[in-house]
Amino acid sequence: MKTVTILGATGSVGGSTLDLVEREPDRFQVLALTANCDAEKLAKAAIRTNAKRAVVADESCLGDLRAALAGTGIETAGGNAALLEAAAMGADWTMAAIVGCAGLEPVMAAVEQGGTVVLANKEPLVSAGEVILAAAARHGATLLPADSEHNAIFQCFDFARANRVRRIILTASGGPFRDWPTEAMRAVTIEQAVAHPNWSMGAKISIDSATMMNKGLELIEAARLFPVAHDRIEIILHRQSVIHSMVEYVDGSVLAQLGPPDMRTPIAHCLAWPDRMEAPMAPLDLVGIGRLDFEAPDPVRFPALALARQALDAGGARPAILNAANEVAVAAFLGRRIGFLEIAAIVADTLSCYDPPAPETLDAVLQVDGEARRLAGERVKDCVV
Ligand code: NAD
Ligand code: MG
Repeated sequence: MKTVTILGATGSVGGSTLDLVEREPDRFQVLALTANCDAEKLAKAAIRTNAKRAVVADESCLGDLRAALAGTGIETAGGNAALLEAAAMGADWTMAAIVGCAGLEPVMAAVEQGGTVVLANKEPLVSAGEVILAAAARHGATLLPADSEHNAIFQCFDFARANRVRRIILTASGGPFRDWPTEAMRAVTIEQAVAHPNWSMGAKISIDSATMMNKGLELIEAARLFPVAHDRIEIILHRQSVIHSMVEYVDGSVLAQLGPPDMRTPIAHCLAWPDRMEAPMAPLDLVGIGRLDFEAPDPVRFPALALARQALDAGGARPAILNAANEVAVAAFLGRRIGFLEIAAIVADTLSCYDPPAPETLDAVLQVDGEARRLAGERVKDCVV
């Protein structure tokens, strides 16, 4: 029996994880499920899985959670401290599927327990990669990548012969605006931006895919997870999202992982690793798909790519500032306070006006993150439409 905790259980990745865990009740036992505030959805999942504890990060939602779980014997708790306690219950396997740097402290709390921590939540790795990796090494925790591209690379990457890797090829669908001219992107609506051609995901990552900041964050994520030089990580457009990424070796061999665009495949890989488990996926119909296309991404229409590459190369606090400003800008776009093209502009502007020393502790990262959010927030006010 593997004990499992899901941080962000009511989200898109959380739901896919629950789907797999619920199929094999003899193999997985749920310790804690957490959400921000969706008490009803969380309570239902806790009852279905007979979880030990259900936790809402937003304490004002605790009353609803208590009411929904009254008489079930499932423990309930609310607030940030309760979220961190849930992450630190010592599960063998923790899915980190909170969105944004709100997941940073819970990830650290889970890593400090020394179990397996599965990272869908990429933003903490971008902002605090060094801190998280050092904590994992210190506490003997295993980090596994659930992000489909990084899971693909993980499946193809020979860590014992990392010096024989010539390139990592990170594939990108290009999002819903991959063929749009910049001027047409100026007036896009939230509805157009969240309508991803291949994947069904939460709102924030859907917007990140539309700006291609998602691929920028994933570039940094790949640099954190795999021991290769930054300039050996390439991004290519592959609109079918069938090849999830590739690893090229010095002898010219290129290994790829293919699969349907469904997060349950990489999550199942992490759930069973190093074993394999059944996932409810139809066989990949390559004849039906017919062809696989590849193109170079357009750095002019998608400035987020260059911003992320520069932040990665400069290192220090730059990735944390990039991520924090992007979170603020995406939230402002989702709140209809700024236009689509302003997202990357606010990130660029925040990066250009704030250059603190490299943060070396969790507290220092949180401080940089907070100040970058404040500065980005001011820029949002300046461009309110
Ligand atoms: P989502 O918005 O669907 O779900 C987010 C979850 O986090 C929900 O359970 C929500 O209640 C919880 N949450 C939100 N704010 C919180 C807060 N302040 N404190 C505590 N909990 C909070 O998001 P998602 O699409 O499932 O994505 C989750 C993470 O996984 C993101 O970092 C995303 O980039 C990454 N990811 C997602 C996909 C995907 O297919 N959806 C693929 C790869 C990576
Ligand atoms: Mg991805």
